[in-house]
Amino acid sequence: MIKTHILGFPRMGEQRELKTALERHWRGELDTDALEAQAATLRARHWTLQRNAGLDHVTVGDFALYDHVANLIQLLGCEPARFGFTGRETPLQRYFAMARGTAAHVHADGCGCGTAPGEGVPALEMTKWFDTNYHYLVPEFDGATQFSLNAERLLAEVDEAIALPASPKVALLGPVSFLYLGKSKQEGFDRLVLLKRLLPAYEQLLTRLAARGVTWVQLDEPILGLDLPPAWADALRLAYARLGVVGQPLLLATYFSPLAGNLDLACELAVAGLHVDAVRAPGELLAVAMKLPQDRELSVGIVDGRNIWRSDLDQALGQLRKVQALRGGRLWVAPSCSLLHVPFSLRDDKALDTELQGWLAGAVEKLDELRVLKRALWGDEASVARELAEARVAHAARAVSPRVRNGTVAARVKALPADADRRRSPFAARRAAQRQRLRLPAFPTTTIGSFPQTPAIRAARAAFKRGQLPEGDYRQAMQREIELAVRKQEALGLDVLVHGEAERNDMVEYFGEQLSGFAFTANGWVQSYGSRCVKPPVLFGDVSRPQAMTVDWTVFAQRLTSKPMKGMLTGPITILQWSFVRDDQPRADTALQIALAIRDEVADLEAAGIAVIQIDEPAIREGLPLRRADWGAYLAWATRAFRVAASPVRDDTQIHTHMCYSEFNDILPEIAAMDADVITIETSRSDMELLRGFGDFRYPNEIGPGVYDIHSPRVPDAAEMLRLLQKAAAVIPPELLWVNPDCGLKTRGWPETEAALQQMVQAAQTLRRQL
Ligand code: GLN
Ligand code: ZN
Repeated sequence: MIKTHILGFPRMGEQRELKTALERHWRGELDTDALEAQAATLRARHWTLQRNAGLDHVTVGDFALYDHVANLIQLLGCEPARFGFTGRETPLQRYFAMARGTAAHVHADGCGCGTAPGEGVPALEMTKWFDTNYHYLVPEFDGATQFSLNAERLLAEVDEAIALPASPKVALLGPVSFLYLGKSKQEGFDRLVLLKRLLPAYEQLLTRLAARGVTWVQLDEPILGLDLPPAWADALRLAYARLGVVGQPLLLATYFSPLAGNLDLACELAVAGLHVDAVRAPGELLAVAMKLPQDRELSVGIVDGRNIWRSDLDQALGQLRKVQALRGGRLWVAPSCSLLHVPFSLRDDKALDTELQGWLAGAVEKLDELRVLKRALWGDEASVARELAEARVAHAARAVSPRVRNGTVAARVKALPADADRRRSPFAARRAAQRQRLRLPAFPTTTIGSFPQTPAIRAARAAFKRGQLPEGDYRQAMQREIELAVRKQEALGLDVLVHGEAERNDMVEYFGEQLSGFAFTANGWVQSYGSRCVKPPVLFGDVSRPQAMTVDWTVFAQRLTSKPMKGMLTGPITILQWSFVRDDQPRADTALQIALAIRDEVADLEAAGIAVIQIDEPAIREGLPLRRADWGAYLAWATRAFRVAASPVRDDTQIHTHMCYSEFNDILPEIAAMDADVITIETSRSDMELLRGFGDFRYPNEIGPGVYDIHSPRVPDAAEMLRLLQKAAAVIPPELLWVNPDCGLKTRGWPETEAALQQMVQAAQTLRRQL
């Protein structure tokens, strides 16, 4: 029997109903029952779609009101003690407290939450789910962590699915990945020792699910795609030796990355089935099909769960038939990973023309691809001949479409000189030229680019996009905002100014909208975390820049002041990383095309008299492949793309870059090789600890370590920032230091922004006097 299933489905709903409901609930406008009812409606709707597409099981357990890892923390009864729950809260109150933090709470006697009276408890930390843009809530472990099963919510969802009626397969993160993805909160504590405490909870859960009539449980162990320390590999052996004998058939799932050295391990674990990602690791598929014992089910993730391209069904069938030949009937067909990472549907998206729609597939369209593949594998190709033919036509059309290929771009890439990624002189010579031109004080002050995106700015843009505000009026409104930002910066006494990015909706979308090769959806939302969704651009064709994108705004701003105005661009890797990227050429090639477009913008800014240009690359770290063996190749093309963008300029033009969200210490040589004259990084939340790596490495160029956290409305005082700067000056040569916030200020309001920057400038002035 060939079966179809999915590893998970997007939760938000076709119209982001869950987002709306959650945000209303948090504002106190929707009560708990109504929120739960909305969630149940969405689950039923999504299961119905799965059932109607002929999937053999609907997936239960992938739904979450905030995050599936947070669900598991509650399911396994390991809510961190620091939240100080009294036992009087409902499970949902505790859940949202962990996800969002609590406002100043009243301390119960000995609640042990560790915060001062009147202070809230911070939320669980959030971090990126492998190499996706989805953020999960990080479980916290210490020696006192205990587990106890709270299965009510999950069992109720199982019952809902059975009542539909549908056959549920429960999907959960497996115990070893759960521990791995968590964080030890105690110095020197090895969270792996918790496995023995954790397994009984999973065993009980599996027993209860089996009793409920669940025939399959999918346990995700995506850490099989990482370079695993031996102790963690042993933990997988131990865990599945125990869970495999409970009597509940288990499907072990891995995705996002080749199994590589873990292939034997994955095939030997005592489970009833194994799911592998045949999109990210097509080269391993047949090895797995041969290695996996014949009494196991093999689930082949052949439909891309991470990208939005319509499948090449002929090619997929070819691969699946080879597996079928090796394994007889025991074959499941699936998307490569959970469909959480793709939009609900793209078929009738209002912003896409029909040609593009025909090339794309959202989650609903991917369900239909599974239906077609199953029919064809059953030998019933005739019944899906029309669908197969349509897919074939769409693929052929995309391959030859003039919208995808641009001969000029190809010729330019081909003719690109080998040294196109080199500045004319080494840093020391550039530095001298820049000092001459810019005449900045020691510890120069600047900001990262954006200033508050006020409701007025957003309203003006919305009206302009709806066609209710004429373009001229919109431009004038934005120019007034730019002027306001310049005046405020001058009054504050900042040294290198920015125009404030008022005209930008989003740092990737703004550029994508002006570059050729990008398309935008009206409703292609993907969950980022909690109720937050992003709508990544679709990068479908060769990239080129029909005209300058930022020069007018930047020159307008420069004319308002005699201080240097920093031109502000998004780098090629960040644009690549935050878009759905074409799958018909290597990412490296696409990155280089974007780099050339940004390079032209850099050159135009310089020609217009702009002396300082920042190219933001906050996403360079998150693009790292999951396996270290692949890092070198990625970093080589990624840093080259940055340099290609940054290098057309004279020595006395100063190139900045900015990075945030992550640790950089393991890629410092590559960051240094980007050769930006100045790098600004997020460091304040780590109390400058992140900077120590730069110091130890003797990072050669100038650095602006963020001196205050922009994620909070709190205004730090000058003394606090001075302390951070002194700490920085102890590890970095003071003459290389800049003074700036952690990141852009667009989510802040003006009052706190001005107050904090005033303190920041004061801290820099004090430091200059101490020098
Ligand atoms: N220049 C951008 C801004 O200030 C940088 C944003 C980012 O690093 N994420 O908003
Ligand atoms: Zn940033």
